[in-house]
Amino acid sequence: MTSGSSAPADSVMALPVTQICAGTPWPDIVWIHVHDNEETARQTAVQTLSQIQQGCLLDLRHDGSREISIQNNQANYHFDPNRIFTPRGRQSSLKCRDGNCDVAAKQLSQATKHFLNQYLMHAKLIVAVHNNHPNGLSVHNYKAGGSMAQAMNKIAISPNSDGHDFFYVTTQQAFEFLASRNFNVVLQNNQQVQDDGSLSVWASQQQIDYINVEAGMGHSATQLAMLAAVWSYMQQYYQV
Ligand SMILES: [Zn+2]
Repeated sequence: MTSGSSAPADSVMALPVTQICAGTPWPDIVWIHVHDNEETARQTAVQTLSQIQQGCLLDLRHDGSREISIQNNQANYHFDPNRIFTPRGRQSSLKCRDGNCDVAAKQLSQATKHFLNQYLMHAKLIVAVHNNHPNGLSVHNYKAGGSMAQAMNKIAISPNSDGHDFFYVTTQQAFEFLASRNFNVVLQNNQQVQDDGSLSVWASQQQIDYINVEAGMGHSATQLAMLAAVWSYMQQYYQV
């Protein structure tokens, strides 16, 4: 495994990305971990990559918290890194404490566009890894009548499974593959989903196959099993 950080020299602010690569590159597929406090997701992704020996994880490392805080000569601000990938999302998620907040918005916009162009624009498949808390999101939120129902096109719920462990995908192909393997899966409604700036919204706008592997914090064995299924999916649809 190799890792390295890179920041564009000409940019005032860059997203704090560390790239962790194993074996040979796999340009069609990008792995990404954006919430620095979701340690189980980071560890299981790195472990899976080291077994596959192909591809890279983009790991956003900040100060161990969910949000990224920026302090520079222009402004102090913070934001949820999974709410910045569309203009509308950036506008509503940027929390500017003091300084020149217009400049802050421009910095964030420039840094995000650079990040998307450099790492994600040419991907065919994006694999995101997340963790949630016992009182946090679960697959049941996406059921008809649930708080997230508007974002759901199709849902598969596996009996006797933990609702916190689920896939959230943007393509019918990924939905069918993963649902047939007895996992909880939500297919995003790409027409009706709220544009909150999350990577799933951006990926669907770009027509990129996107799989979020979402598991409860500490559910290492389950998240590894889910990632193994994603590896099977990659072999079936992306390996030449
Ligand atoms: Zn997350």
